Amino acid sequence: MNLVKHHIGGTATATAERTGQVFNPATGAVQRQVAFASAAEAEQAIQTAKAALAGWRETGLIKRADVFFKLRHLLVERQHELAAIITNEHGKVLSDALGEISRGIENIEFAAGLVHHLKGEHSEQVSRGVDVHSTRQPVGVVACITPFNFPVMVPLWMVASAIACGNTVILKPSEKDPSAANFIVQLFEDAGLPAGVLNVLHGDKVAVDALLDSPDVRAISFVGSTPIARSIYQRASANGKRVQALGGAKNHMVVMPDADLDSAADAAVSAAYGSAGERCMAISVLVAVGDATADALIEKVASRVASLQIGDGTNEASEMGPLITREHRDKVASYVTGATAEGATVVIDGTTQQFDDDGFFIGVSLVDNVRPGMKVYDDEIFGPVLSVVRVETFDEAVALINANQFANGTAVFTRDGRTARQFEVEIEVGMVGINVPIPVPVGAYSFGGWRNSLFGDSHIYGPESIHFYTRTKVTTTRWPDNTATQVDLGFPSNH
Ligand code: NAD
Repeated sequence: MNLVKHHIGGTATATAERTGQVFNPATGAVQRQVAFASAAEAEQAIQTAKAALAGWRETGLIKRADVFFKLRHLLVERQHELAAIITNEHGKVLSDALGEISRGIENIEFAAGLVHHLKGEHSEQVSRGVDVHSTRQPVGVVACITPFNFPVMVPLWMVASAIACGNTVILKPSEKDPSAANFIVQLFEDAGLPAGVLNVLHGDKVAVDALLDSPDVRAISFVGSTPIARSIYQRASANGKRVQALGGAKNHMVVMPDADLDSAADAAVSAAYGSAGERCMAISVLVAVGDATADALIEKVASRVASLQIGDGTNEASEMGPLITREHRDKVASYVTGATAEGATVVIDGTTQQFDDDGFFIGVSLVDNVRPGMKVYDDEIFGPVLSVVRVETFDEAVALINANQFANGTAVFTRDGRTARQFEVEIEVGMVGINVPIPVPVGAYSFGGWRNSLFGDSHIYGPESIHFYTRTKVTTTRWPDNTATQVDLGFPSNH
């Protein structure tokens, strides 16, 4: 059985003392193994990245940018091959995989503007004959640790800007769908990136801990579940690194009585069940303002769900694929089967749907009368389960969302501009959609949630990533006239 190896210094390598299984979620079959790095292999990757630092940092900005222009071309040219790799290991349908790639390409396009992003500032004559300017310098070796649900887009969120800023990178992708990372690093090198600037290290906690503990790794970008994000943040920051650790989500979509309920139902179904709910920006809670809104929405959602095609992602007719693992499928099912005992009403029970294949499939579920305090509400389920919370007023909807431990994305559906504006001002969530259910910012903005959806103070990709992956240096300059200097022990003042 073939083995997914690390890619270190331009070379595929692995001792493979420990390995993990990589499934095809649509068939349930193990199709390959992935090497799990030892601490020694992690150290090899770190030292390779460190050795590549000086050369990459000295590479001219125009030449650096050229890699991203070429890479964009290669990614577009080979997007179908890459989408097939995503579908094969993740399970999402091919059209969704192509969508993921196109959102990842936005980060390459942003990085291609690095000459602009890395500009410093200059102030002439801050004091007589004295000028000040600032520059941005790379932080050094950066480690990027990514989740299973976007095996292309999330790595590109991180590595594009990290490399553009002159850093060298170790990417530790999810062990559940590792092959896309190897495809990406090869494309980077085909586009002209020198070997050693981007390295891929596969594995689990052993590899991650080695990255978190190494004094040669200066910054950590992490995306994954909240408990792991929290522990990564604590360990890496205790080790003196800068860290951004993005965690889980429970995204609420408020539907006001004045909303266009047909388009709200379309949006809810697409955002809740797309990619089988395994998106950090998936809508998992519908907050219906007023019982009439709730009743109408539930009917409209249910009628749309009836015709959803669930199946192998390589089949063009499929709109939703399987979940990532059997264990995850069973955990998702447990929230639905336990919901009635918690006092909720299961309107559509996807756990009873039968499938021909042995893949990790589950039908979609809709659960009404959900409230805080129920597990189906409190936990991030990360599957195709949409809960409905009924509230009486707009203020109740806002209070519900602001009290949730997660604060990644949220949306309001309304025809009233004043309500929309009030929502935007009062809601305490990092990304907001007004009649947009999945408000993932375009690549020229940055992405990030609040509260337990992000540990650290820097959002990911876009302008905040340039800040995160560089250190600012400020230089104050005087070219003195030799005759004008004198000894002065006072603190330098500009007056
Ligand atoms: P995960 O936390 O299980 O794994 C993420 C990464 O951490 C993987 O590379 C994994 O190998 C590594 N890891 C796992 N356990 C570890 C441990 N004990 N110590 C060190 N490293 C460890 O997450 P996942 O299941 O791959 O991804 C799904 C989660 O990611 C969901 O919670 C989802 O909301 C979240 N997510 C968040 C965003 C965001 O932008 N906020 C985006 C995508 C996914």
